[in-house]
Amino acid sequence: MTKAIRIHANGGPEVMKWEDVPTPEPGPGEALIRHEAVGLNYIDVYFRTGLYKSVLPATIGMEGSGVVLALGAGVTDLAVGDRIAYAGGPIGAYAVQRVIPADRLVKLPDAIDFNTGAAMMLQGLTAQYLLRRTYPVQAGQTIVVHAAAGGVGLILCQWAKHLGVTVIGVVSTAEKAELARAHGADHVVVGHQDLPAEVKRITGGAMVPVVYDSVGRDTFNTSLDCLAPLGLMVSFGNASGPVPPVDLGVLTAKGSLFITRPTLATYTAKRADLVAAAAELMEVVASGAVKIRVNQTFPLSEAAAAHTALEARKTTGSTVLIP
Ligand code: NDP
Repeated sequence: MTKAIRIHANGGPEVMKWEDVPTPEPGPGEALIRHEAVGLNYIDVYFRTGLYKSVLPATIGMEGSGVVLALGAGVTDLAVGDRIAYAGGPIGAYAVQRVIPADRLVKLPDAIDFNTGAAMMLQGLTAQYLLRRTYPVQAGQTIVVHAAAGGVGLILCQWAKHLGVTVIGVVSTAEKAELARAHGADHVVVGHQDLPAEVKRITGGAMVPVVYDSVGRDTFNTSLDCLAPLGLMVSFGNASGPVPPVDLGVLTAKGSLFITRPTLATYTAKRADLVAAAAELMEVVASGAVKIRVNQTFPLSEAAAAHTALEARKTTGSTVLIP
């Protein structure tokens, strides 16, 4: 037997139960891994509440680091004992041991510890595709990043800065503003009410070519008002709730805008894309250009407390759960 967090119904943090579960066996193409650390991500909240659907009972979680314990038939590029990390589906990371398709794993270099590995994969691969593929930012551009002191946010700020981009970060408190500034945000706006006016002032009226908005419902319209003509709205999260249906005429009226609602799953669906993105991420982390801030750790058995903190906007940077 092993231990895992399971939910038997969707709901608040209290639906997460620390239970005995049978140790799974790896089938063909799969690996059995032991987690050393599990990443906490906002998407875990969506699966817990039922905003994103799962078959119940479910073990949520999409990110971890650890060691390979056993391999199923046909897995040739991994060995028992390898240090690994991963991000993305299928869910099941809130467990001491789990089985996962082996082609979702990447090897973790010795220079990257397990906590960093579990913290950086999902949020770091997200920052990679947002800045390098969804809208390949160019040195000299100015961009807007919402939730700039959060997990994805701190990585976006540092990586964009590393690429020569000027970042306008948006946060909810003065403390978070300090943190975002210390991680590469050149300008920080507290609260989003005056954001378009601030963006106008900072850019001398030009506005920005791209907004990275993970907050969703509360900030959607404000974000559109920050864009230059032909600008791209990247709506990549729902921390405040999902964005309601959009009237396309609004995009016309605001200057022939573009909009995308991307997910990491699409950008890493092909193994080659996953490997290339992970290599870029590990390079910027190893070089020190991007520092992974694990600002909170919780025992995995106390995942409910971690969710409560995340939803109450009490966390900054990344959070890991320790089995
Ligand atoms: P964060 O650490 O960024 O935590 C969420 C932050 O959102 C909060 O700290 C808070 O920052 C801000 N926020 C604004 N409004 C609310 C609200 N009503 N309730 C709670 N938080 C709010 O989380 P992650 O780094 O894990 O994820 C950031 C976002 O990116 C999430 O929306 C997530 O779903 C999305 N995401 C999307 C991916 C994709 O591929 N599409 C992949 C990974 C993440 P503040 O207090 O400063 O406002």
